[in-house]
Amino acid sequence: MMTKKEVTVALVGNPNAGKTTIFNNITGGRQHVGNYPGVTVEKKEGFKKFKNNDFCLVDLPGTYSLTAYSLEEIVTRNFIVNDKPDVVIDIVDTSNLERNLYLTVQLLELGHPLILALNMVDVAESTGLKINDAKLAEGLGGIPVVRTVGVRKEGMDILLDTAAKVSSSQQAVSFKLDYGADVEGAITTVEPLLTSLHKQVNFSERWLALRLLGNDANIIESVGRLPNGEQIISAVNEIRLVLNDKLGEDVELFIAGQRYKHVGKIYQYAVNTSKLSSITISDKIDKLLTNRMFGLPVFFALMWMVFNLVFTVGSIPADWIDEGFALLSQYLDAVIGDGPLKSLLVDGVVGGVGSVLVFIPNILLLFLAIAILEDTGYMARAAFIMDRIMRRFGLHGKSFIPLLLGFGCSATAIMGTRTLENPRDRIITMLVTPLMSCSAKLPVYTILIGAFFDEQIAGNVLFSIYFLGIILSMIVAWIFRSTFFQGESEPFVMELPPYRMPTFKSVFIHMWERSTLYLKKAGTIILAASILMWFLTTYPNEVEYSKDYDVLTAQAEEAYTQQVSEEILYKLEIENIDQNEELAAMIDTIQQEEAKFTEDTKELAENSPEYVKLEEEKTANNQQLATEDGATYSYAARYVELTQKNEDAKETLKNEQAGEALEKSYAGQFGKAIEPVIAPLGFDWRIGISLVSGVTAKEVVISTMGTIYSIGDGNENSQGLTKSLRSDEHMNPLVAYALMVFVLIYSPCLAALAVMRRETGSWKWPIVSMVYLTTLAWIVTFIVYQGGRLLGFGS
Ligand code: GDP
Ligand code: MG
Repeated sequence: MMTKKEVTVALVGNPNAGKTTIFNNITGGRQHVGNYPGVTVEKKEGFKKFKNNDFCLVDLPGTYSLTAYSLEEIVTRNFIVNDKPDVVIDIVDTSNLERNLYLTVQLLELGHPLILALNMVDVAESTGLKINDAKLAEGLGGIPVVRTVGVRKEGMDILLDTAAKVSSSQQAVSFKLDYGADVEGAITTVEPLLTSLHKQVNFSERWLALRLLGNDANIIESVGRLPNGEQIISAVNEIRLVLNDKLGEDVELFIAGQRYKHVGKIYQYAVNTSKLSSITISDKIDKLLTNRMFGLPVFFALMWMVFNLVFTVGSIPADWIDEGFALLSQYLDAVIGDGPLKSLLVDGVVGGVGSVLVFIPNILLLFLAIAILEDTGYMARAAFIMDRIMRRFGLHGKSFIPLLLGFGCSATAIMGTRTLENPRDRIITMLVTPLMSCSAKLPVYTILIGAFFDEQIAGNVLFSIYFLGIILSMIVAWIFRSTFFQGESEPFVMELPPYRMPTFKSVFIHMWERSTLYLKKAGTIILAASILMWFLTTYPNEVEYSKDYDVLTAQAEEAYTQQVSEEILYKLEIENIDQNEELAAMIDTIQQEEAKFTEDTKELAENSPEYVKLEEEKTANNQQLATEDGATYSYAARYVELTQKNEDAKETLKNEQAGEALEKSYAGQFGKAIEPVIAPLGFDWRIGISLVSGVTAKEVVISTMGTIYSIGDGNENSQGLTKSLRSDEHMNPLVAYALMVFVLIYSPCLAALAVMRRETGSWKWPIVSMVYLTTLAWIVTFIVYQGGRLLGFGS
């Protein structure tokens, strides 16, 4: 019997070469997604039994090179070197073969068993590219070359057969690129210094020498940590400086140039390009889409469509989910007995997590749109078009994509900064992204604008807030770039991939992967935060109230019973309402009418024509009842009125009590404590708590205000909050505007902070962003509020 052995296969290649497609073809559903240890690039592993082998496939992050400029490059390089996969499969986009071979050559230099998969040969052949596989293999040191078409699952078996063969022969690749006398001379001098090292770092001496001469920060750091490392580094540094002078240019650039030249030679040797039509369809489309005149309008039109898709279409299922959670709350409310458990589940868990899950449809759609834009190849063009504008403010063209995503959700936008290679560009973008007004802030604006601004100017007010965010982000980016993050911006070298029809499967997978990531990470954070917030606003619950609410409630109830019996029961000579059937029926009719009116007018303004019309209808109906039986009607109407008053009075007491409990809770005490700091912005302690709790998620500002402004459940669309905000003597349009400005700018939410921590690997940047944004928010709001007062607003 043959012994089975697990063969580890690493899939490497440029972004969009088809790695994930091939990975999914081979592994099917059997895969495991995680993160690489220590860093946050996603790691996908999948398994496949094929003939006599167990294969373990690893989908490595897409990369153009193995120099250490981006996280993806380092992860890929380290995986190959440290985990020593049995076989590396380099998946290339054959329609862009020359460019893709640049990575191939670097893989060859690493010296691990390598297979070249010529993917997308279908596309390449349709453009007339003729490749001689044997010559190509010869140019690449004799490695096997396999043709594949990922989307049609062609070539998968041959790929696995080849992998099995290569892994069992375990032949190391012998490929040596000649870098010319100067560099080779330096390599020969450096190599002997490294013999003691290479066992410890797994790299060959030649490779190490090249990387050190090329000033590779990542390698210098790992070598520096080894015994004698520092000395070796400084010795190599001297050699590097001499070499620099000899070459008259940066060694790394020279090395890259030599590699390109060599790749060009291999390409010329193996590929017959004579039949290539010089202008492809892609080029033609690009002429239009990246045109100075048409580029921007087309781009804005597309973005407008995306936003409408995400926020208009998405809000429909979002409403269903919202209603679903409302039902769940009601259900829990009904089945669980009063007490801390119910309060925790209903207010804390369902309330908090529900407010996040409501965004799933929007997020799915946003990612769907992005996946389509990316897979077709348009995203790269958009960044290219925007590069001209962004550059003026010290941002990179590619920063544009995360900034755009920022209008949806800062947390996902921060994940989107991965496309930026330069850490400087990446951090600046991360720091300004939260200034894009994310969709969670929208409910806050909606409520405040609805309460304090005329319908005619509502749109302008909203626009001014979004605009303020954009302007601030540009100013802040410019300040960062000219102070802490000085230095050349990377030139725009993003590849413009050919246009391609996206496949349903690939779009779906992209969308799904990202959304589940959002759900998992944001979901856990929000859950924890909601529970914490619930605790802080609920405890201590044994507080001394200023009034005895129970007694007051009982008194109100008693007064009500008294009035009913004096004004109605006594006069009609009955003991309770039910004894007079006509009266009971009439009361029922009137109450139903009232309930229907309340329901119908829920979303109407009090002086709107529809409202007035419904009110007139109601009055007419009542008059009808009165003419039928005047005496009974007046008793019934009085009874309804008294009952309503009693309900209102009890509700007010309950809310007052809730308000007082909140004031004395930990959160309330905290709000009082910070009041002096926010008073110059026009905010009181209640707004203070709302803002602090809003750090968990921006929507929470509204739900907290709901609780605090004594309306019980704090429903986001509740007329109740609007009304109590209007009647609050502390609030006015100026305070409302100041509050919107503050909410726009201040600290990113926990999910965004956590993603920032994950993406940068330290708490430094989340803390910096929290502190600088909150400070900025204070300053800008101070100017807005105090300036507004000087101009005579705010009374
Ligand atoms: P990755 O970034 O390397 O993981 O690339 P993906 O697997 O996501 O593929 C990028 C796009 O290329 C997807 O839209 C695929 O459907 C498409 N694709 C993959 N392989 C082929 C192929 O052989 N031919 C064609 N025409 N398209 C392909
Ligand atoms: Mg992929």
